[in-house]
Amino acid sequence: MKKDEKIIYSAVLISLLPFTYLFTKSGSLNNDLIYTIGNVSGYMGAIFLLWEFVLGNRTITKFFNPDYTLSIRIHIVLGVYGAALILVHPILEMLAYLQNLAFIFIPSLASSIDLYYTYGRIAFLLFLLTWVTSTLARDKIKYRPWLYIHYVTYPLMALVFLHALKIGTFFNAFVWLNTYWYFLALTFIAVLIIRVLEILNLLKNRYVVVRNELASDNIWLLRIKPIGGFNVPNVGQFFYIKKSFIGESHPFSVTEFDESTGYMTFGYEAIGKFTNALSGVKPGQALYLDGPYGSFTKEGHDKDSAKIVIAGGIGVTPFVELIRRYSGEKTYLFYCNRYFKNAVYHNEFQQILGMRYFDLISREKVSISDCVLNCRFSLEVMKQLLPEDVYNTAKIFICGSPTFVDGITQTLQDGGVEAERIFFEDLGF
Ligand SMILES: Cc1cc2nc3c(=O)[nH]c(=O)nc-3n(C[C@H](O)[C@H](O)[C@H](O)COP(=O)(O)OP(=O)(O)OC[C@H]3O[C@@H](n4cnc5c(N)ncnc54)[C@H](O)[C@@H]3O)c2cc1C
Repeated sequence: MKKDEKIIYSAVLISLLPFTYLFTKSGSLNNDLIYTIGNVSGYMGAIFLLWEFVLGNRTITKFFNPDYTLSIRIHIVLGVYGAALILVHPILEMLAYLQNLAFIFIPSLASSIDLYYTYGRIAFLLFLLTWVTSTLARDKIKYRPWLYIHYVTYPLMALVFLHALKIGTFFNAFVWLNTYWYFLALTFIAVLIIRVLEILNLLKNRYVVVRNELASDNIWLLRIKPIGGFNVPNVGQFFYIKKSFIGESHPFSVTEFDESTGYMTFGYEAIGKFTNALSGVKPGQALYLDGPYGSFTKEGHDKDSAKIVIAGGIGVTPFVELIRRYSGEKTYLFYCNRYFKNAVYHNEFQQILGMRYFDLISREKVSISDCVLNCRFSLEVMKQLLPEDVYNTAKIFICGSPTFVDGITQTLQDGGVEAERIFFEDLGF
């Protein structure tokens, strides 16, 4: 586990601690252990949800750690474990109050206190919807419907805070706990405000399109320059690009950048709604960017250490500046494409790396040079082409589609390559 990961998990644990105090006091308030566990699980489940909000917001997490993929990974883990607490909460409350399942699901507005129970019921139903679509049914749902359903977590969280305001003897019995709850609610409001500022592009930098050209098939190169301030990325980082004032932001690795002028180039494949629309932007058009995020390739930011770079198609983007700035005598690159014409950086890589660069072409026969091979990536190919010491010791960087990255990682691990030497980024969360 990385150091930052440990810090985040420790912070989550610490934030849960105040509610464990209720176990020591439950006897004086209510003898029923089920009731106490039900209450504490509800509070703790809410804290898990709040952490998911904080970790899911890249403006906030960037402030502590630019590795947004790490935050998203932790966000997912908390989603799984927090779900257990949230699912347990209404069930234990139902048992403690000697009720049946209708107590959990059927809204009631009979009294003012019922209204607050009903806030909890609606929040629970919304939670079930997001939980099921993010876990059990995730593979069956496309990205956008999943994303839009995920947005209901905003009203859900607001209802959770309201729900606890009037319900729970514990909550009102301890002023400091009450204050802590208000602090958590304010944290949620702060996240909401940051989200609104993000939507209004107030936390983004403006750029203008210099060029947007087709490089091959559906692979495009977008060159942009900043209007005003800009953030300089590290090699391997990515930005979120928004192509109009209101609309979606999508992540793209910086393919080329100039730290003195702020000019950047992004290589992208037009494969869906956003990237197809991006291919239509014209020189002079304004774009909104936030970033940089990520820390991919940072372990390879030196010229001396041995590195093996494996790019699948458009997964080459985080490697262009890596090869330009940090390739040495022990840097080897495998650029995997279906067709040779899609190897858009072929000439430059060959110039820099010479015989340490290989095109692996899988869908056509080409015989241009010894470095262009008609095959897929495999352990045998790697063993055959690399010096033994590089094969045995080099750090290995992989980028491409999730299927490509999973496949190569699995191949390497099956072949006995240690997991600590493998670093990857897949082009999809
Ligand atoms: C860290 C990172 C770096 C990336 N770098 C590049 C790059 O350099 N070049 C490139 O061509 N592509 C890159 N991608 C992928 C790119 O973001 C998606 O191809 C693009 O968002 C697809 O959107 P679409 O509407 O065109 O296609 P869709 O068909 O709608 O989406 C295709 C897939 O892209 C993913 N996706 C869609 N929207 C988002 C989003 N907002 N956030 C994250 N994933 C999304 C989903 O897995 C989806 O299934 C990167 C992705 C990530 C996570």
